[in-house]
Amino acid sequence: MNAQPERVKLLLVDDLAENLVALEALVRGEERQVFCASCGEQALSLMLDHEFALAIIDVQMPGMNGFELAETMRSTERTRRIPIIFVTAAGHEVNYAFRGYESGAVDFLYKPLDPHTVRSKVSVFVELLRQRLALERAHADLERAVRMRDDFMSMVSHELRTPLNTMFLQAQLRRRMFEQPSPDIARLNMMVERDERQIRSMIRLIDDMLDVSRLRTGRLAIAAKPSDLVAIAARVVDSLAEQICAGGSPLSVDAPPQLYVMCDEFRIEQVLTNLLTNALRYGRGQPVHVNIAPQDGMAVLTVRDGGIGIAPEDHERIFAQFERAEGARHAPGLGLGLYIARQIVEAHGGRIEVRSAPGQGSTFAVRLPLAAPPAP
Ligand code: ADP
Repeated sequence: MNAQPERVKLLLVDDLAENLVALEALVRGEERQVFCASCGEQALSLMLDHEFALAIIDVQMPGMNGFELAETMRSTERTRRIPIIFVTAAGHEVNYAFRGYESGAVDFLYKPLDPHTVRSKVSVFVELLRQRLALERAHADLERAVRMRDDFMSMVSHELRTPLNTMFLQAQLRRRMFEQPSPDIARLNMMVERDERQIRSMIRLIDDMLDVSRLRTGRLAIAAKPSDLVAIAARVVDSLAEQICAGGSPLSVDAPPQLYVMCDEFRIEQVLTNLLTNALRYGRGQPVHVNIAPQDGMAVLTVRDGGIGIAPEDHERIFAQFERAEGARHAPGLGLGLYIARQIVEAHGGRIEVRSAPGQGSTFAVRLPLAAPPAP
């Protein structure tokens, strides 16, 4: 959302230049932009180009008079909702003609103009417009949130339903296998292993959703202490050994014997697990390389793959919730991993970035503040 206050546009219509100058001096303000027209036609043409918060219209003008201009405005969709203040010298009763025609955002100023009345009437209309815009924005945000929730529900259902369906079919198959005189134990073992993998990925998915909700409510606590990043990376690589083997991507690590950072080990393990599983999933079986080194007072850990790569316009987007690049549609995923990873790294006072181009592989770099090793 744009935090800068928008400039509100006001339109002044009067055939006399000196009246326009005087009125402009009265209504001018910091967050206001004032436009002047010397006749009805010019006013209408300005209204087609700009959204006005208010039109202040002189009633007595040669050619199209103020009431006629107002009627033309009311009959055009684009201009019909612009509030009008008529400026008139005539007696009050004449002006009720238009009030009867169109009640609502219409008001009157009487010549000679009283500066205080002019300013306060204009302020009321400007404030009304501000409130309407704020309301419209809130409404649009709400609609977006509802849409996001619906998309999310359907993604989650899909992500859980697919593996559950497979597991259900496998369970039926297994029941039939057990009914046979000598069930194929090796095959049954393989099936159980596959179940375990799928259950693990469903648990990860649910954990990710829980983390997102913790992040939103500020409950994702980081308990940082001096920890050896090299040892953490080694543990993560170890825990992924099976997946690395299955994916066929050889994995190498280049690191000093130790490098201490201030971190919550569990959370940084989570970040590295995400980067490595992505490198395996989107890595097209090409080698994956992990590098750890100190640089400018930070520890820099990079995960480089030779996979499908990411287009420059997606480099920032993939770190947002539910955002996935086009090339990833074939792989399951909710687009939460990198969002969580960035929040965790930033909560450590660190940074995470990507360098990549389509077809050229990707390098994700995590920077974390260095720490002195704990006293022995
Ligand atoms: P998920 O992988 O579940 O979609 P992530 O947040 O981990 O969610 O990643 C977001 C998106 O970033 C992925 O969908 C994919 O498009 C892209 N991406 C992440 N890592 C890589 C990578 N190593 N190579 C290519 N694309 C990647």
